[in-house]
Amino acid sequence: MTRDDRTRRIVLISTGGTIASRWQGTGYAADAPGDDVLATAALPEGIAVEVVDLFNVNSSRMTTRRQLTLLRTVHETLADPGVDGIVITHGTDTLEETAFLLDLHHDDPRPVVLTGAQRPLGTADGDGPGNLCDALQIAASVRDLGVLIAFDGRVHAARGTVKTQTLGVDAFSDPSDQPLGKVGFSRVHIQRRPDRSLPLPLPPAACAPDDEPEGLPRVDIVTHHSDGDPLLLNAAVAAGAQGVVLVATGAGNATPEIAAAVADAVAGGVLVAVTTRVPAGPVAEIYTGGGAVDLVEAGAVLTGTLRAGQARIAVLAAVLGETDPARRAETLAPLLDGPVRSEPALAAGGSRFSAG
Ligand code: ASP
Repeated sequence: MTRDDRTRRIVLISTGGTIASRWQGTGYAADAPGDDVLATAALPEGIAVEVVDLFNVNSSRMTTRRQLTLLRTVHETLADPGVDGIVITHGTDTLEETAFLLDLHHDDPRPVVLTGAQRPLGTADGDGPGNLCDALQIAASVRDLGVLIAFDGRVHAARGTVKTQTLGVDAFSDPSDQPLGKVGFSRVHIQRRPDRSLPLPLPPAACAPDDEPEGLPRVDIVTHHSDGDPLLLNAAVAAGAQGVVLVATGAGNATPEIAAAVADAVAGGVLVAVTTRVPAGPVAEIYTGGGAVDLVEAGAVLTGTLRAGQARIAVLAAVLGETDPARRAETLAPLLDGPVRSEPALAAGGSRFSAG
């Protein structure tokens, strides 16, 4: 039997989300088991699916503990050489965060494909069945692409992809790049390879018992805005945050007061990363006076084109993977896109940057 004519074994890990949601009398919430979710979808030819019911939550309730349990489950599942790929059904709200955490630790040619739905289970115009069918098709077809997101006929890399529609069925895109490819008519068409960092080893915390959330690091996100001050950043540090993501304005800018607070946080062993509230493009060392030049000088790390949720996941991965706070910035740097420097041409209006 050749690789091409044998049945592919795909494991479907069900975690909840709208794709598993039913009406609860006042609103929708995840409650359907994975078998019920699978039963809605057409099964692509030549695929056998085994269902694992891991959680049943809407993904705004996702936690680091649950994400680490999922990460461990993925690794345990792939320890079976007879498994050809994994599909994970997940709420769309934090799907990009879970996908990126899995991708940063994914060291296997077999694919892990996350999908979900914007419309609940059983709705006549639901998008879940098609997305799930596509995800299964992708999981059975591709290799060496890391962790992927299948949604609305598109194949997205985990890195860089964000939820860009609150209700529309084309829920995901990478505002700074194109999708990897398309899926439809029983075919997967990959147009480009994803940029991926070298995979991290499974963090020790992923192996802790599921009912022990204690000891997991706090990593907070703080957003800058006009009239912003360091109060919330300082509050995060006072609450014991081991990492903070500053969602800056523009290309990564804040104020001299916030830069001073960042310097204090970094001196206290906190890993500080900077992203932007602008939807597309990289953060860059261009401005002083509280800008990215000063934030970097204060010890913060710029996160390239990663947006807040994924920048936080990169910080979390660095904190989980390195116990010495003094070495965490070094651990974080290779997980990010290439840094952008304040070359005169860029400051003068050049628009190109390259991710290293
Ligand atoms: N609130 C839902 C969730 O993230 C949304 C969805 O799944 O689309 O679980």
